[in-house]
Amino acid sequence: MTTLTPCPTFIAGEWRTLAGGATTPVFNPSTGDVIAECPVGTSALVDEAVSAAHAAFPAWRDTPAVERARLFFRYRQLVEQNFEPLCRTVSREHGKTHAEARGSIFRGLENIEYACGAPSLLFGDTLGTLARGVDCESLLQPLGVCVGITPFNFPAMVPLWMFPLALACGNTFVLKPSEKVPLSAILLGQVLEQAGLPKGVFNIVHGGRECVDALLTHPKVRAISFVGSSPIAKYIYETATRHGKRVQANGGAKNYIVVMPDADVPKTVEALSTAAFGCAGERCMAGSTAIAVGAAGERVLPALVGAARTIKVGRTDQISTQPDMGPVITAQHRDRVLTLVGSGEKEGAKILCDGRAVKVPDAPRGFYFGATIVDGVEPNMTLAREEVFGPVLNVMRMDDLDRAIEIANQSAFGNGAAIFTNSGHAAREFKHRVKAGMIGINVGVPATMAMFPFTGWDDSFYGDLHIQGREAVQFYSQQKVITTRWFGGEVGDVWKK
Ligand code: NAD
Repeated sequence: MTTLTPCPTFIAGEWRTLAGGATTPVFNPSTGDVIAECPVGTSALVDEAVSAAHAAFPAWRDTPAVERARLFFRYRQLVEQNFEPLCRTVSREHGKTHAEARGSIFRGLENIEYACGAPSLLFGDTLGTLARGVDCESLLQPLGVCVGITPFNFPAMVPLWMFPLALACGNTFVLKPSEKVPLSAILLGQVLEQAGLPKGVFNIVHGGRECVDALLTHPKVRAISFVGSSPIAKYIYETATRHGKRVQANGGAKNYIVVMPDADVPKTVEALSTAAFGCAGERCMAGSTAIAVGAAGERVLPALVGAARTIKVGRTDQISTQPDMGPVITAQHRDRVLTLVGSGEKEGAKILCDGRAVKVPDAPRGFYFGATIVDGVEPNMTLAREEVFGPVLNVMRMDDLDRAIEIANQSAFGNGAAIFTNSGHAAREFKHRVKAGMIGINVGVPATMAMFPFTGWDDSFYGDLHIQGREAVQFYSQQKVITTRWFGGEVGDVWKK
């Protein structure tokens, strides 16, 4: 039997394992084993955490920005020292391959590095002599208690999108990680404690609906950062804004990759394969639909299907033997992906590469789904409209770029879109006309790095200021404009007795 990993909350600088309350299982998706029990936090627990963050705020707000930044320089170093345990925790509770876990923690480290720049990021503006004898300046000040609610698919990276910058801007924080993957967030919190963060500045609670609702409505919470599926993102946005909070809520996605007939075949095949099957398709920037324009289908598909068939699926929790692709998060999620692929088949699409029956002999109870390519998908099919969030690539065929853009623009989502072509003209048309916030030109996964905002549109984002980059600095700060006039005589009068 697997020994359960403790899953404590962190409130006011104290790690606490809740005894006796309700819990939800945390799986190792590679084996199907339960590896931890995540406590289901109540509103009373949330009140404790928010009150701790609220009490810690005045001293943290008044800590000079350079000192706050210094703490994040230390944090960066400590996260790097704990890189391997973090990668292993991500792989164990989520199922990412070791290489994917490493990549995600690198992205997280870049967010810590960005937060280290807080003293310059928090510069205000000044206009001397706004009027005669009057000067004007603006300051960025922290909000107070900020909250992060995060999804299962990037257990360390998405929390790192949020709390380092929020804290470096002078706020205090309560993190509610996904109950499916709470262990990486706990490790990040333990490392932050080692960096010397004062008690109460950062807190972790666990739970589901009650816990989230208590965070969204708590009178002492000022701002909510959320990443997850679109229906929940919308709910978070509507509920929290109704309660007077500032909200940034990233939702789900369905990202199109347009392949033009002049695209470089080997490079496009490699990029499509990574975009569709990397992280087992469980990422909001996955390329889930390829639109092959004209002859592109015949040029690219045979090689793509050949590449997909060689993708080795297996357990990711053993460092010595790493597969190309790991499991999906739960048995329930695997069954949902299975149903969606089945619906495409029933509606007339053709399965060119079928990962449904994949077997991993040394882990028969793991949640596996092999790389799958479905051709002949039509825009009105369920498979075309719903976010699948698994290793499934839909292929649509279109006659020209105009039609490809028209189809991509019918999506309710608007996270990413990419084009593969050697034509500058086609690329320019695409980048101007396609309806998505992050565009790739010969780049399959155009996810933005820490210094740029993560600019989802439509149902992929609810709010005004996005996560990451300067928009996030604005999100975690409130602006104050000070207009100053001093009365007195001539300059130099003060020195006269
Ligand atoms: P999810 O919406 O189920 O859960 C996200 C968070 O919301 C979790 O912390 C969960 O506990 C909480 N939650 C779930 N149901 C809730 C409810 N009814 N009321 C209140 N809180 C609730 O998302 P997930 O399955 O963990 O993550 C996958 C989704 O996240 C995908 O749709 C993916 O596209 C999206 N995602 C988006 C981005 C982005 O930046 N746009 C990044 C990563 C993931």
